[in-house]
Amino acid sequence: MKRKQLGIMKTFVSSAQILVVEDEKKISALIRKGLEEEKYSVVQAYDGEKAEVLLQENPFDLVILDIMLPKKDGLAVLHTLRKNASDLPVLILTAKGTIEDRVRGLDSGADDYLVKPFAITELLARIRSLLRRKKGLEKSVTSLTIGDLTLDLVTHKAVRGGKNIELTSKEFSLLEYFIRNKNKTLSRSTITEHIWNYNFETGTNIIDVYINHLRTKIDGGFSKKLLHTVRGIGYVMKEQ
Ligand code: CA
Repeated sequence: MKRKQLGIMKTFVSSAQILVVEDEKKISALIRKGLEEEKYSVVQAYDGEKAEVLLQENPFDLVILDIMLPKKDGLAVLHTLRKNASDLPVLILTAKGTIEDRVRGLDSGADDYLVKPFAITELLARIRSLLRRKKGLEKSVTSLTIGDLTLDLVTHKAVRGGKNIELTSKEFSLLEYFIRNKNKTLSRSTITEHIWNYNFETGTNIIDVYINHLRTKIDGGFSKKLLHTVRGIGYVMKEQ
């Protein structure tokens, strides 16, 4: 127990979180195995509706999306995702290999596609490439904004309504994470894993303490609150 609580000492390893949407359980299991061997963390969905719910609730780094799915097909899921202005990398899996289908997938906002059957090594190579591209895009962004709050990623300074806000490095990381995932409810354990990278222990209120400090700094004195508590779950950053 003691050792686990000292997990803050653990070297920070950023492992991408990947959603696998594939109704064929055998293929899904194979993909999961391949991804986990590369230390990615994997969440599976077996139909389109479940995929949409998971996408609403979790900050994934990439989605592997089959087209032919029960309840809602992959292209419809992709359509909703892009309508919500998400720039999440999406790799389409399809049994259909015709030119028309490929074009349709890419036109719908997919970043890449792979035709079944595929080799897992090929899938992993495509994923690495998409994640690299995503990282490059994130780096080229030098500031993040929500409402009248701007976070400068170069100077690590926050400004709200013309007022400078001093942040500790932990508060900066938290705020950056919240703004990158604005309008998404983040659970305490998701936040903890991302910022501290150790398993959240029930009863540990460290996250609440940090978030309260951050909240005082960014919302104190402003009538419009940005950081909201979602009871029993965690927190969300949104304009409201
Ligand atoms: Ca399928």
